[in-house]
Amino acid sequence: MRKKIVAGNWKMNNDLDETELFLAELKKQVFPEKVVIMIAPPFTSLNHAFKSLRDHNVELAAQNMHQNNEGAFTGEISAKMLKSVGAKTVILGHSERRALFNEDSPILAAKVNTALENEMTVIFCIGEELEDRKKGSHFDLIKKQLSEGLFHVSDGAWENIIIAYEPVWAIGTGETASPEQAQEMHKFIRKIIAENYSKAIADNVSILYGGSVKPDNAAEIFGQNDVDGGLIGGASLKVDSFMKIVNSF
Ligand code: PEP
Repeated sequence: MRKKIVAGNWKMNNDLDETELFLAELKKQVFPEKVVIMIAPPFTSLNHAFKSLRDHNVELAAQNMHQNNEGAFTGEISAKMLKSVGAKTVILGHSERRALFNEDSPILAAKVNTALENEMTVIFCIGEELEDRKKGSHFDLIKKQLSEGLFHVSDGAWENIIIAYEPVWAIGTGETASPEQAQEMHKFIRKIIAENYSKAIADNVSILYGGSVKPDNAAEIFGQNDVDGGLIGGASLKVDSFMKIVNSF
């Protein structure tokens, strides 16, 4: 059965002291049993967060990793390193990585393979630019991103895959896809997974929506049939707004 998930992507925010303040506040909260809560702090805070959250029901995700297991890749982080500091999940294909760090589909497909080989869970992000939507090519684009980056994996791998649909025009802009637009795309994503794999796999995969989710719009978006939660950027940086979103189901 698919899970309800709210994951906070901190991006390049919060140093160690700020992480500690956030966690101290987070640990005072009551967590709903039916929702998987994840945070993705920067690499420098992962191990601290892991130790601090050991007895709490909050999972840790990394924001990126390299596709190679080791070697001469100055500045990069491997899957094994992430696991060694407590992160068993990794966000791959975020639009900022695609646009600002030239991560194309072949690189992302390789990262997906490496993460899965290392028994990690992948949050695979996809999303169209505003131009694609205006042209009406957004469904084709999403299909392409999925086919090129993800549809090479085995049936069994889907146990460890979460999709995040994040229209690029809605990320950090205050502009949110309407609940109907989110539902329409999530339904489409589930349909093409069913066509390429099976209905059972499509029905079981969690598909998160991301793009300016806030406490005042989360309930309506999460209320859609094919929306299983959210990947939250800005609103995940304060415990108060993050928890309001977590409690929106
Ligand atoms: C994100 O970075 O994945 C994101 C959805 O950001 P925001 O919520 O700030 O739009």
